[in-house]
Amino acid sequence: MGHSLFSSRSAVLSLSVARGDMAEPFWSRDTFIRWRFLHVLSWGLRAVLVAVIIAIGVLAWAVARNVLSFPSLDAGEPGAGRVGVIAGHWESDSGAVCPDGLQEVEITLAVAQQVVALLQSFGYEAEILAEYSAELPGYQADALVAIHADSCLPDRSGFKVARAAHSAVPEQEDRLVTCLYKAYEESTGLARDGDTITADMTGYHAFADIAPQTPAAIIEIGYMGGDRQLLTARRSRVVRGIVAGITCFLQGKD
Ligand SMILES: [Zn+2]
Repeated sequence: MGHSLFSSRSAVLSLSVARGDMAEPFWSRDTFIRWRFLHVLSWGLRAVLVAVIIAIGVLAWAVARNVLSFPSLDAGEPGAGRVGVIAGHWESDSGAVCPDGLQEVEITLAVAQQVVALLQSFGYEAEILAEYSAELPGYQADALVAIHADSCLPDRSGFKVARAAHSAVPEQEDRLVTCLYKAYEESTGLARDGDTITADMTGYHAFADIAPQTPAAIIEIGYMGGDRQLLTARRSRVVRGIVAGITCFLQGKD
């Protein structure tokens, strides 16, 4: 009891000595509030600074990632070209179906819509076409690309591109195929699955319907089984690859 009374007295004493030494009260209510305010403010500013630095870092990373891993896309001249894009199976049937219900047509329609939108944003006159569109007979364009996806086999991966077996413009169509192969490979990292090109591809119904002078190709963008992640969650790479392939062809870069 006596000891604690002594301690509190000496504490009061030392505090009053300290006050006496200072021109202003060292620890008044006002200075405490001011100190708390500056303290909170400085930590707040530090937090803002750190957030800004992180945001700049993330932005730089995103830009670098795009620049490094996507094929370059140049805007076309106004009226740079007319492009038809067939969404495989659309308005016809489901195409391949996975055990969990994922349908090929869901993938091809979403990809075709985004390809058309991106081409339009670059100044091309692009349009989406159904599998058996009434516009296909005699269709005239600077390029026509049909988009399909392969089966749901879980252990298969890869993409492939083909043109008509009997083409009226073989040099042009070979260039279109070459451009699509290069750009799609670069954008997606998928391997070429060229050994499985079938008569379904080289004898694709639209090749026989369109005007013979319209350069056309069909691309199987990957397997719904082994390449499912790419075709669903990383679809922008699929879209960029196809668009870069088409613009490569239209701009004469191959
Ligand atoms: Zn298909």
